[in-house]
Amino acid sequence: MAIATINPATGETIKTFEPLSDGEITAKLDLAQQAFEKYRKTSFTERSLWLQQAAIILEQEKADFGKLMTLEMGKPLKAAIAEVEKCAFVCRYYAENAPGFMADVPVKTDASHSFIRYQPLGIILAVMPWNFPFWQVFRFAAPALMAGNVGLLKHASNVPQCALAIADILHRAGFPTGAFQTLLIGAAKVADLMADDRVKAATLTGSEPAGASLAAACGKQIKKTVLELGGSDPFIVLESADLEAAVTTAVTARMLNSGQSCIAAKRFIVAEAVADKFEKLLLEKFQALKVGDPMLPDTDLGPLATVDILEDLDKQVKTAVKSGGKVLIGGNPIPDSPGNFYPPTIIIDIPVDTAIAQEEFFGPVALLFRVPDLDAAIKLANDSPFGLGASAWTNNQQESDRLIQEIEAGAVFINSMVKSDPRLPFGGIKRSGYGRELSIQGIHEFVNIKTVWVK
Ligand code: NDP
Repeated sequence: MAIATINPATGETIKTFEPLSDGEITAKLDLAQQAFEKYRKTSFTERSLWLQQAAIILEQEKADFGKLMTLEMGKPLKAAIAEVEKCAFVCRYYAENAPGFMADVPVKTDASHSFIRYQPLGIILAVMPWNFPFWQVFRFAAPALMAGNVGLLKHASNVPQCALAIADILHRAGFPTGAFQTLLIGAAKVADLMADDRVKAATLTGSEPAGASLAAACGKQIKKTVLELGGSDPFIVLESADLEAAVTTAVTARMLNSGQSCIAAKRFIVAEAVADKFEKLLLEKFQALKVGDPMLPDTDLGPLATVDILEDLDKQVKTAVKSGGKVLIGGNPIPDSPGNFYPPTIIIDIPVDTAIAQEEFFGPVALLFRVPDLDAAIKLANDSPFGLGASAWTNNQQESDRLIQEIEAGAVFINSMVKSDPRLPFGGIKRSGYGRELSIQGIHEFVNIKTVWVK
């Protein structure tokens, strides 16, 4: 894919970028390694100050950064600005908490003195997606930099200006030159980077093929990876649930980021007893959503990020219909538009044993399934190659306990949508990936957990 800003609302190419040459990549690697040698010796006080300053810059310039995101990948501007605010939050969270997370941990053994020490690894590569162009990067950068690592960012090829803006923010915040750099490179260059001894580990958020490819390249070099891949999160609604609240949240949970979120609710699994009502209310709320120019304040749903995403989604919808699904609303790209607009879509009656029922729909398409009871709901929720998040709605304590215990996912949210929060670990099981971001677990992914034993 060419490295370029293409406005998804109009199809217009705004700016193209030459990928870095091999020589330029080597120079950036050299700089990162030199920076690491000094940066690892900086104090937590210094790193915290720089990260706090990054939070201030993010807040002061959130309108500009928001517009940049909307221009490059089409999310509604109000959501883009909220994303910038969340980046400030994660910066402050790690600025305040990382010193504690990284402190020595004494352990009583037969030694006179034994403890765990956390130390940085060196250069960490982040391969990042376009769907949350700022948030995905800051949730990597904040803990990695606080731990004393240095970062290289290979961002998605359709958000180069966001990628450059992020490196600039961190530099302006005071981080030393080379501590965090953006590499404008295509995906084909990633395996070579991982073959360089100085790059110690990698994290990727994106599709399964991209994750598998990076993990294979890292496996060859015995290097650690954290993978945050797709999801087909269930949204379970049981008879005892507050149905109004469930439907209202269902719309937000499916339509966040125009449906392009790994933790969006994608499979709505509803108890038969309330399914007619849920379906009717969901349909009414989908009909009321405003699709259009993402720069306008009252737009709910912007364009999809790229033509490929639009075409892939439409193919999936057609396959779902061929497999027996029925479209209640939407089901075709919005005609006569230069942008990548897809309408809110609901598909019911997809047979659960079809291949398409197992796929992730990365756009504003809700799949609705009916189940007789809790057992069937849990079985269907778990009948997926993915295991990222799950949202379940019930006012019955026993049902809630069973859902928490039996759902196969990295996160279960009861009576709420799934969302990331700097204070809680984030990540998946099964084909949704492995490792955790955020919280104390996130900062410990890329450190040497050194055992110290003194006689
Ligand atoms: P990709 O997985 O292709 O892109 C994500 C990142 O990985 C980009 O930086 C991309 O670079 C890079 N990449 C792609 N292939 C490789 C590779 N072989 N080795 C190393 N890096 C690679 O996502 P797409 O944009 O193509 O979206 C396709 C699907 O992926 C979506 O429909 C969705 O299902 C899923 N996805 C999931 C996301 C999530 O949040 N979990 C986020 C984005 C996508 P480049 O842009 O240069 O190709």
